[in-house]
Amino acid sequence: MKAFTYERAKDPVEAARIVASRPGARFLAGGTNLLDLMKIEVETPTHLVDVQHLALDEIEGTPDGGLRIGALVSNTDLAADERVRRDYGVLTRSIVAGASGQLRNKASTAGNLLQRTRCPYFYDTNMPCNKRTPGSGCAAIGGASRQLGVIGVSDKCIATFPGDMAVALRVLDATVETVDGQGQRRSIAIADFHRLWGDHPEQDTVLAPGELITSVTLPPPLGGKHFYEKVRDRASYAFALVSVAAVIRPDGAGRVAFGGVAPRPWRVEAAEALLPQGAAAVTARAFQGATPTKDNAFKLPLATRALASILSDAKA
Ligand SMILES: Cc1cc2nc3c(=O)[nH]c(=O)nc-3n(C[C@H](O)[C@H](O)[C@H](O)COP(=O)(O)OP(=O)(O)OC[C@H]3O[C@@H](n4cnc5c(N)ncnc54)[C@H](O)[C@@H]3O)c2cc1C
Ligand code: SF4
Repeated sequence: MKAFTYERAKDPVEAARIVASRPGARFLAGGTNLLDLMKIEVETPTHLVDVQHLALDEIEGTPDGGLRIGALVSNTDLAADERVRRDYGVLTRSIVAGASGQLRNKASTAGNLLQRTRCPYFYDTNMPCNKRTPGSGCAAIGGASRQLGVIGVSDKCIATFPGDMAVALRVLDATVETVDGQGQRRSIAIADFHRLWGDHPEQDTVLAPGELITSVTLPPPLGGKHFYEKVRDRASYAFALVSVAAVIRPDGAGRVAFGGVAPRPWRVEAAEALLPQGAAAVTARAFQGATPTKDNAFKLPLATRALASILSDAKA
């Protein structure tokens, strides 16, 4: 690990100001992704600004009947919150499908949204990777791509966003709230938060350098039945090959987003309109224009079957 300096920020604006003004500075939340990447020198920050002690760890109701989740709320506390379990079950289910109990105790809401891809070549500093070293090439194209993306990818990068929680937040139409070093606040719809790779796969999100996530806001509850189906190589402690977050109403209409397939949670509202016609109709529309490799083409029928399983449970 490269040497770095460390400080605790006093408040969110100060944290943002330090990171924006100091090249190589990064926020440190639970550290469960950042420190792992620092140990193998994929990430080499020169200065860490610890945000864990800022007062951003509350879950509170909003005036319109939704919830505001502080950026530092742990994944464990968020999944266990009574209001979340009652009104946003898809969120609890997605979180407990991820990582392990120990990791979820440390992992924060903001850090989970900002975890980096699990493409194996991103972790191997001997291999070319446009995300790790812009312009170096992409070892996954023509390489081992079983875990990687089938849609929304580019000729520069075919990795996926690996997280579970964000897939549920996409179905719930969450909003990411931020502050910068001047105290300017911004609300970003989760649909716009993660970027498609395009020519710049090194940029995972639309956050500006030094912009700090302060909270994630959920709109009022949707009702309906909530589901999160995650298909992976092991029963636990593995990232999704394909996941499906869904909220299905009694009349069969609803919302669906897919994980493990694209640079961001993949939701196509036009496909949701086809839910009463069944899973195959929905996925045919949602994955229109997909560009799978021979290694990961199985993700398309897998997505259909995972959704079919949810729709069958929704009728039960
Ligand atoms: C073995 C293992 C298995 C895992 N399995 C899963 C899984 O199945 N599903 C899943 O979804 N996840 C999984 N994870 C990932 C885990 O959920 C993430 O590591 C965790 O959520 C990151 O949160 P953190 O608070 O530790 O972030 P950190 O590691 O502290 O930070 C991550 C990034 O976010 C930035 N950051 C942190 N807070 C803020 C903020 N408030 N504003 C702006 N930037 C910020 C940091 O600078 C850093 O770049 C796994 C991790 C491990 C190690
Ligand atoms: S798919 Fe993306 S993350 Fe993986 S090697 Fe290619 S550029 Fe790097």
